[in-house]
Amino acid sequence: MRNTRARNAPLKDIVIVGGGTAGWMTAALLSKLLSRHYVIRLVESDEIGTIGVGEATIPSIRTFLQLAGIDQVEMIKATQATFKLGIEFVDWRDLGTSYIHGFGKIGQDMLWLHPHQLWLKMTAKGQARHFDHYALNCMAARKNRFCPPDPRQTGSPLADIDYAFHFDASLFAAFLRKESEKRGVERIEGHILSAERDGESGLLSRLLLADGRTIAGDLFIDCSGMRGLLIGDILGVGYEDWGHWLPCNRAFAVPSESAPVLTPYTRSTARPAGWQWRIPLQHRTGNGIVFSSDHWSDDEAAAALLANLDGKALGEPRLVRFRPGMRARSWDRNVVAIGLASGFLEPLESTSIHLIQTAILRLVALFPGTAFNPTDIAEYNRQTAFEYCDVRDFIIAHYKVTDREDTAFWRYVKHMEVPDSLAERLALFRDSARFFVHGKAELFREESWVQVLIGQGLDMHYDPMVDMIPEAEVANHLRDIEEVIADVAERMPRHEDFIARQCRAPAILATG
Ligand code: FAD
Repeated sequence: MRNTRARNAPLKDIVIVGGGTAGWMTAALLSKLLSRHYVIRLVESDEIGTIGVGEATIPSIRTFLQLAGIDQVEMIKATQATFKLGIEFVDWRDLGTSYIHGFGKIGQDMLWLHPHQLWLKMTAKGQARHFDHYALNCMAARKNRFCPPDPRQTGSPLADIDYAFHFDASLFAAFLRKESEKRGVERIEGHILSAERDGESGLLSRLLLADGRTIAGDLFIDCSGMRGLLIGDILGVGYEDWGHWLPCNRAFAVPSESAPVLTPYTRSTARPAGWQWRIPLQHRTGNGIVFSSDHWSDDEAAAALLANLDGKALGEPRLVRFRPGMRARSWDRNVVAIGLASGFLEPLESTSIHLIQTAILRLVALFPGTAFNPTDIAEYNRQTAFEYCDVRDFIIAHYKVTDREDTAFWRYVKHMEVPDSLAERLALFRDSARFFVHGKAELFREESWVQVLIGQGLDMHYDPMVDMIPEAEVANHLRDIEEVIADVAERMPRHEDFIARQCRAPAILATG
């Protein structure tokens, strides 16, 4: 392997290529953690622009803000953000169905048994309500309520609320840019045409810009978006395509006027050849449709999107093409690809921004000293692949586990072969609804899998240990959970009122 650094001097110059969400998140975090020791520059091209989507997050975003030294309220006001308690999935199991994948805890365990085990037994007997009733995040979302967790309320579900944000992607990048520049990151406007490599080591040495400037660096972080300018075009690292498991490969996005009620959750509605998102922000609603070009034409998808907005469209739908999958290696020589340059999984569970964040932290954990150590690089790539495959399986499960067979798209995904790792996990769930963590870096834990698989209608048998407990006790335990959650959710503030009191953003004109 020729991944070792040629010279034995400490690494000094970090060059980030790209100023989308990935580029500026990287700049913000590295400038907070490393800026005293490194020169950090970011090159971006206004003419090329950013992808301009990516507005729903998951709770780990709060860790990013904390590590990057960013105040939540300031970020909310600057990006027109709202709070997110989870995602509502409409028509996914079948037409007319709905469930919420909420963040946070589900109910209360009974001995060592988790609430879904009790629920599976009682629901088979017709003695349990919709599963949403047993998780505070879900019930608060259904009632449009929000408040942050209150750790002082030990024993109350209020201590276990978990939340993320919806924000305007362009405003988020602009906000991070301001923070990064304050900390000394230099932004360079320019169109990169190519790059030079050191003949002996194969390491990238400098970027060549269209206006003749060159930018030298020791470590290059490729945040250039789907094209993967450095990792793909210059270093020739291949791309693993997962289109056979995730046939959606295009999206249209369009903002619309705000709806009368500011919902504290993302909505994902299944459509004949894909699904539609709805993301409420303070100044507008973000909408889009993700679809398979094998099953729908662009015109059909755009028409379905526009026919299903709950406010007036603020512009024309914008088409984005993508390839689900990941780079064969995200770190090669002295180039680390982060964001869309390293791979993309459709935004069904809002995971891309999270994957940017974990990639930056992984790079910090394996940060090179004077040389690019092949074992560090291999470890980085191994962890990245694990994460991508883990998220991939969870997303595929939403398609595979469904009762829908009403269109060619749904028939395909319902009957397709899935990765062995997912098939084994589904088998375990079918037999005894049990879940075991495969690795520390696993993003989606039992609560997530359980909510989605129950919501999608997987035929699961409960853990036989539930039968050791008298049925009346199981029924009482479930009823207690439901009552406490209904009561607490009812007493939480309305999402709009909470925002108005704590973090109302200045009014701005929303455009397409
Ligand atoms: P980009 O935004 O494409 O930025 C690339 C940057 O590189 C730009 O600044 C560009 O100017 C620069 N660049 C490129 N080539 C050159 C060059 N030659 N010279 C100079 N500069 C150059 N993620 C979520 O977490 N939640 C979501 O809800 C979500 N929704 C999504 C919906 C859709 C339809 C899609 C496609 C993605 C979604 N994502 C979502 C993913 C999210 O949008 C991205 O992960 C995120 O925006 C990061 O993009 P990026 O910075 O890698 O790339």
